[in-house]
Order: sequence, then structure tokens, then C-alpha cells
Amino acid sequence: MKTVLIAEFKQETNTFIAGHTTVEDFKARNLLVGDEILPYFQGNKNEIGAFISVLSQRDDVKIIPSVAANALPGPTVKRNVYDYVQALLIEDIQKADTLDGILISFHGAMVVEGIEDPEGSLLEDIRYIVGDTMPICISMDFHANITEKMAEYATLMFPFRRYPHIDMYESGVLAARAMLDILDGKIQPVMRIKKLPILCPLMTTDEEPFTSFLKAATAFEEDEDVISASVSAGFPYADIAEGGMCVIAQTNGNPAKAEQITETLANMVEEAKHQLQLTIISPAEAVKTAKAQEGITVLADVVDNPGVGSPGDATEILHELIRQKAKNAIYATMYDPQVAEQAAKAGPGATIQVSLGGKSDPRVGPPVVAQAYVKSVSDGIFPNKDVMSHGVVNHLGTTAVLVIDGVTVIVASNRYQPWDPEVFRSNGIEPAEASIIVLKSSIHYRAAFGKFATDMIAVNAPNVWNLDLQELGIKNCRRPVYPLDK
Ligand SMILES: [Zn+2]
Repeated sequence: MKTVLIAEFKQETNTFIAGHTTVEDFKARNLLVGDEILPYFQGNKNEIGAFISVLSQRDDVKIIPSVAANALPGPTVKRNVYDYVQALLIEDIQKADTLDGILISFHGAMVVEGIEDPEGSLLEDIRYIVGDTMPICISMDFHANITEKMAEYATLMFPFRRYPHIDMYESGVLAARAMLDILDGKIQPVMRIKKLPILCPLMTTDEEPFTSFLKAATAFEEDEDVISASVSAGFPYADIAEGGMCVIAQTNGNPAKAEQITETLANMVEEAKHQLQLTIISPAEAVKTAKAQEGITVLADVVDNPGVGSPGDATEILHELIRQKAKNAIYATMYDPQVAEQAAKAGPGATIQVSLGGKSDPRVGPPVVAQAYVKSVSDGIFPNKDVMSHGVVNHLGTTAVLVIDGVTVIVASNRYQPWDPEVFRSNGIEPAEASIIVLKSSIHYRAAFGKFATDMIAVNAPNVWNLDLQELGIKNCRRPVYPLDK
């Protein structure tokens, strides 16, 4: 019998957002301990769901579920959250009668008060207790800021390779299978990383230069000695010394091969770094373009994406739709619990005077002050039905569908990144019948909406932080780094 402890500790920190991510923010998504974990994640198409699924297929493996803590991306995490999760994990590791391996689902770009590299620190603490030989396999986000410490103390790491992150589940499966292979004595894990002095903006892996990186990495994996090869983007909006891109190669007992792969991939990225740029246009230009086009145009409010920690109530694109009298436009989602509550009180069929959005900070734009027709009200609970995080249930709180000057706006009580069409369908709106769809999402929406959208445009609307790396005010990242130092 082999015993494997599983855990999750995930949050993506945007250090350019004021305030803190608190224990309440973790509770709002999930903060579960021990026996609560398996029933909650069983069947989920995410990393910890994958750990459970792979390990439970084996009669000779026992799972110790320890802690699963996950919060929406946002500002720096409070120290007490880290201390709490660390204490739970350490206690479970110490009290286990037997323990053969540890599997952890991290994001990899979390920043805690006073700790720049919490994942690395946590791995260091665990390693101190379990010793050098126990396998610790981790899954991570494509946007992990991979550090030397993570590489030193983890045995193997499996970051997502795709953005949109359609391979979350796959990364969890790879990590869990690698764990079983180590425990079965089938592989001798070797990991090499190479940090690159390059900051990458939010770019999809469905286009160049990432398609070439992905192709090269996949080709290396055809070698039976190669466990995995990957290129990670990093998350420049978590401003830490070791922020930036990273390449990773993992082999079965072959350090030379791992080094050769990281060298090759690193050179490839270095040569293509000038292609790591975003094309973004203003809200006025974006709405004008969308109106002139046939078919369905998605306008992505890439900056106001709660999935990268933004407030979710920026108003400029909505103002622009109203100004330009856009027809058949739908919008998801405006974070405004006050207006959602006001609409719920008035009820469907009512017309109310609203001051919508623009409440978090003056920089996100002024509220939309208008007459709004309340089309429907719901509890905001619906499961993802498309490829990303299939089956994971969203909780938007009291949710209202408002129609303002012909624009249909979903108003939510919780911050939410819309990437699954179900956000509309669960509210009685068919997105495939719209002309313009506005989504507060940077890239993830492309996986599902790309199936029926004719065009997808990245829009740069005013917010509390700046998407432009040069303008962002990066201070802590090691220099020189591209593109700040040419
Ligand atoms: Zn990510």
C-alpha cells in the first residue's frame, strides 16, 4: 500500500492591485480541509480532480486529502492565510502513519505579505520534514513565476502549456501519473529549468510564437526518456525578483538530455521574444469595428478581467456601446452587488434607475447612469459546460439581466471572469445569436466563444493597472529583463 497526500494552494496575485486577498476570499471559492475535499472535487476537470481520479483507480494507493485553498486572482495574500495552510499541511504530513508521496496543485504566481515566493517557501518547509527522497509532484498554471526554490524542492512540476488553460485537468493527470510511476519504480525523475529574463504579456498559445514553442516541446516528448518539456509564460503582474518566463525539461534519469532540451527551448524563446507583444485597441475603435462587421464580434475587456485580479466593474466599453448605439450587444459581467440587489428587489419586468459599475475606483471609469429594464433575476449558480473547468460550478451571487439602451448586461454580485457561454445561457440568453459580445476576460474566453465568434478583439480600457509592461511600474523584477531593458 502506498500513501499519497494531496493538497491545493492556488491564487494568482496581481501586486499592482491595492488591498489584500483574505481568508474570506479563499472561503468564497474553496477553503476545505480533510474529508471535505474528496466529495467536493470528485469528477471535477481541474488539477485536484485529476489527482483524485488517477489515484483512486489504484487499489494499492491511499489518498490523504489535506487542504484545498483557492481564491480568485487578486491582490497580495494575507500572511495569516499562508500560515494557516502551511500549518495544516505540515501537521498532516507529520501525523501520517506512512507517507510515500505528495501531490500539490499550485498556481505558482502567488505573493504573500512578506513572502515573494510562497510556493517555493512551502516546498522548502515540506522538504525539510520529509527529507530529500520523498517525491513531491506539483501542477502549476501557465502563468506561474517559476523560481529556483520551486525547482530545487519539487521533484517534478507540470505547468499548463495552453492559454486558454484547456489542459488544467491534463496537467493534474500528468503529475499524478508521474507520482505513481515514481512510486512504482518505473522512472528516475530528473528536472532542469532555465529562467529567461523575459516578461511575457497575456498572449494566447493558439498563435505564434507560442504555437512553435508548443510544437517543439511536444516533439521532445516523443522521446521515451522525456517525461515533459514546457515553456511557461510567467505572470509579470506579480512583481517579484524571479518573475518571468521559464523553460522546463524533465527526463527519466537523463540530466544531459534535460539540459539539452532547456537550452534549445530557451534559445527558441530568446530568438522570438520580439513577437511577444499584444495588439490592443481603444474601446471607441473596438465598438466601431464590431458594429461594421458581419457575424459575431467578441470584444474582450482584457484589463478588467477578474481572472487577473481586476475589479470587474470598469465601465468604458459599456459607455461606448451606449454612445455608439450598438445593436444586439450582450455583456458579461458587470460586478455590482448593489445594482443586482436593487434589480432583484424591483423584480423582472420593472424599470429602474441605476448607477451601474464604476464604484471600485475612479480609474475604472464613471458609473453608467441610466434607466434599466430588469429582464430576469437569478441566484447566479451554474456549472461550466464547455472545455475549461468542465463541471466546476460558478457562484455569481444574486444576478440580474438588465437591458440598458438596447444593451443586455449581466450584473453579478461576485467578481467573475466569463469564459463559458453558460454565463449567458443560464440566464436565458443565447450568445450565438448576438452581434457583439463583451467579455471581461483576457484569453480564456477564446476556447469556448472562439467556436462561434467571427472575430475576437482585445480592448484596452482604463483600469486601476496598466496592461502595458513599460507603463506598469515594475520595480522588483531582476534586471535586465526584456522588454524593459532592450
Ligand atoms: Zn493563467
